[in-house]
Amino acid sequence: MSLVPGKEILAEANRQGYAVGAFNFNNLEFLQAIVTAADHTETPVFIATTEGAIKYAGLDYIVAMAQTAARSTKTPICLHLDHGRNLDVIRRCIDAGYTSVMIDASNLAFEENTAKTKTVVEIAHKKGVSVEAELGRLKGIEDNISVAERDSFLVDPEQARRFVKATGVDSLAPAIGTSHGAFKFKGKPRLDFDRLHQVKALTNGLPLVLHGASTVPRELLDRCQKSGVKIPGAQGVPEEQLIQAIKHGINKVNVDTDLRLAFTAGVRTVLNENPGQFDPRKYLSPGRESVAELVKGKILLFRQGR
Ligand SMILES: [Zn+2]
Repeated sequence: MSLVPGKEILAEANRQGYAVGAFNFNNLEFLQAIVTAADHTETPVFIATTEGAIKYAGLDYIVAMAQTAARSTKTPICLHLDHGRNLDVIRRCIDAGYTSVMIDASNLAFEENTAKTKTVVEIAHKKGVSVEAELGRLKGIEDNISVAERDSFLVDPEQARRFVKATGVDSLAPAIGTSHGAFKFKGKPRLDFDRLHQVKALTNGLPLVLHGASTVPRELLDRCQKSGVKIPGAQGVPEEQLIQAIKHGINKVNVDTDLRLAFTAGVRTVLNENPGQFDPRKYLSPGRESVAELVKGKILLFRQGR
């Protein structure tokens, strides 16, 4: 198959009330792992690259690899730009063959975010490329936080309604208390489901996206620690809260950190056990397998909302 617009995959997930995974990649091994997992579970998937990934691997390499990956399976694959901030990069991605782009202007004031997002929608839709945008800031909800503090960085549902109407975006990432990286919460993990529910209702059931949704599961942390990775205090979003979020209208769940951990644990374990090993294929393969297994588990978990 050729790469599929994000909108098509999200419309189907939204209709059936589940979520698809969006998994980040920077190299061949991650991409193969993600697409293998999508293929085995016969579930559509977003393969996502940040502007940093494009800098690392090169836009042409990424698009060529993604198109080759999509042709290798009957499962719909969408090539997505994650957290696009630079209009030039977004334009280059659209021209090069991406089928979905995120414009992240959430650091700007509401009106500027609206205007910039609208511009991207106009450029992207002309080429059949879908657009995701973000409202609010990705920051964990800490213990004893006041309502005013919460309101200052989480999505405002009424603004979400106006934003979607004014911009024509295909999906929205509302900030509801998750954050990026391996250290998501200082205290008890919690997401604002009421707010999520309101956003879904006020945007007429638009597909919604959850960023910063790695779970950093215990068994993965154990494998990492055993292989020598030092990340004390790492904490992700509990699985049951992800399921709750999907039930409240999330249709795309972004995962990056968990894949990095799985890959690193796989590679380090082989290198620790075989100090004489210097064939990259021998230590990258276990990393790739470890990511494929993890992604398979995620895809099945996200389908549970159904
Ligand atoms: Zn994100």
